[in-house]
Amino acid sequence: MSSNLTTREFIRRLALGTAGIAGTAAADEFTATNKTLPPGSIGDPANVWFGQRIFPLPHTIEDGPSCRMEGGRIIMPAREIPVFHTTDVVVVGGGAAGFAAAIAAARAGSKVALVEQSGSLGGLFTNGMVLIVLATGVRQEDGTWNLVTRGVCEEFMRRAQAMGAVASTGPVPKTRHWQPTIDPEAAKYLMDSMIAEAGVEMFFHASGLDVIQDGDRTLGVVFNSKQGLQAIRARKIVDTTGDGDIYFAAGCGYRQITHGIGFVTRLANIDRVTAKKGPADPGIAYDGKPNAWPTTSNEANGTARWIGRLGPKGNGLSVRDVSKAEVLHRKYWWEHVTRMRKTPGWEQVYIANTCSQIGPRATRLLESEIICDRAAVAAGRGADETVGWFGNCGAHNGMPLPFRALVPRTGGDVIAAGRCVGAPDTIDTFRLIAPCFVSGQAAGTAAALAAQKDVPIRSLGYGELRQKLLSAGVYLG
Ligand SMILES: Cc1cc2nc3c(=O)[nH]c(=O)nc-3n(C[C@H](O)[C@H](O)[C@H](O)COP(=O)(O)OP(=O)(O)OC[C@H]3O[C@@H](n4cnc5c(N)ncnc54)[C@H](O)[C@@H]3O)c2cc1C
Repeated sequence: MSSNLTTREFIRRLALGTAGIAGTAAADEFTATNKTLPPGSIGDPANVWFGQRIFPLPHTIEDGPSCRMEGGRIIMPAREIPVFHTTDVVVVGGGAAGFAAAIAAARAGSKVALVEQSGSLGGLFTNGMVLIVLATGVRQEDGTWNLVTRGVCEEFMRRAQAMGAVASTGPVPKTRHWQPTIDPEAAKYLMDSMIAEAGVEMFFHASGLDVIQDGDRTLGVVFNSKQGLQAIRARKIVDTTGDGDIYFAAGCGYRQITHGIGFVTRLANIDRVTAKKGPADPGIAYDGKPNAWPTTSNEANGTARWIGRLGPKGNGLSVRDVSKAEVLHRKYWWEHVTRMRKTPGWEQVYIANTCSQIGPRATRLLESEIICDRAAVAAGRGADETVGWFGNCGAHNGMPLPFRALVPRTGGDVIAAGRCVGAPDTIDTFRLIAPCFVSGQAAGTAAALAAQKDVPIRSLGYGELRQKLLSAGVYLG
């Protein structure tokens, strides 16, 4: 028999407790209408629209033991950590590097999980709204350009272009550098799609915290989320957190640097600017040079314009430094655009959004088996173990990436990729988006092979890795 739940009946059942509501309603074969609450709902009967969605739940997480004071120090008690998931390869950090690593590992035949602390993929590229993919091609002796960041990177760029999401300097980099500027929302959507197609298990809102070690074996990661601390058991781990959070936890050596902490903003209605030229604005100094206010778009979306600042230098791992930088940048942009909107011709421009991931350009750099500084690159160190190539960019020539630039010299059995690898004075090339895709693909492939062979990543033979990368379309020179 179906019945409607009156307000009085609802309150009576509420008084019985939630079990009373669910039990009674189920027995009554209650059918919800758009004017009534369904069985078990504890929503407000006067607000059925929301009430349809409100049900009691058992606790997702039971209270864990609290920290205690001991002699003036705060002590965290030992506790058992539940296993949330088991896989072959776990990739921690879903930026450009982690995205490529997860896809490559899955395509190399491994079961893969990707753990990301935010709610979308792409890291600085999308959430940091960096957008412009640099260093994709190498200029050859005859003056033509050779696209070297192939494999997952090229596939991604071409698919983004097919979606109409790219404003670029040309699809075929024969006569010009290919520097696609990709719409961030299209990029997030495409990354989600490609991750799902590759069969990768995607875990968002989960922050990698620690590794599980047993002697010299590394058996997975511990992550934190609203479900508390949980473990992912894995045969191999890829650290693509950008900050080396995981190799740090695995006891690997690293050096730490400061860099400019940047922040990207997107302006809307740039197509409605009626002034022909922008005034030079000393407030927008980038690398010390005052820019004129923009009058045209530089994005696939002609109404939008992204614009960034080098930002103050700081320690990207310091909560105080990044908090200060967030406030400083937002204040700057708000005041800047307010001035802009009071200027004839710019009245309709407004801030569409500011980046949701602030940009410390680099923090930890791995103490890798091969440190890829300029001297090592010039001497061709590791040229016999190339796992990818980066293109020309500014002061940097195109260069090959040696396998062991990704492998820690000491510490646990993990591999790194992206902006936290072993590249001290070369970091401004290694950290660019296309190079991060490339190092990610190499690291993911190596992790998958090492998992399949059950060998430590650092003792993986180069021959098979090379073959796998070549068959995945990676350019190796
Ligand atoms: C302001 C600015 C301008 C730039 N301009 C350009 C440019 O024009 N062109 C260019 O090619 N490059 C540029 N870069 C560099 C480039 O954008 C980045 O270096 C690159 O995108 C880094 O990719 P990544 O995957 O290594 O790291 P990230 O993009 O930082 O990705 C790391 C990911 O890991 C996640 N994460 C971090 N810690 C954890 C954890 N413990 N657990 C789980 N997840 C975690 C993060 O949320 C993030 O999604 C710029 C950078 C900045 C900051």
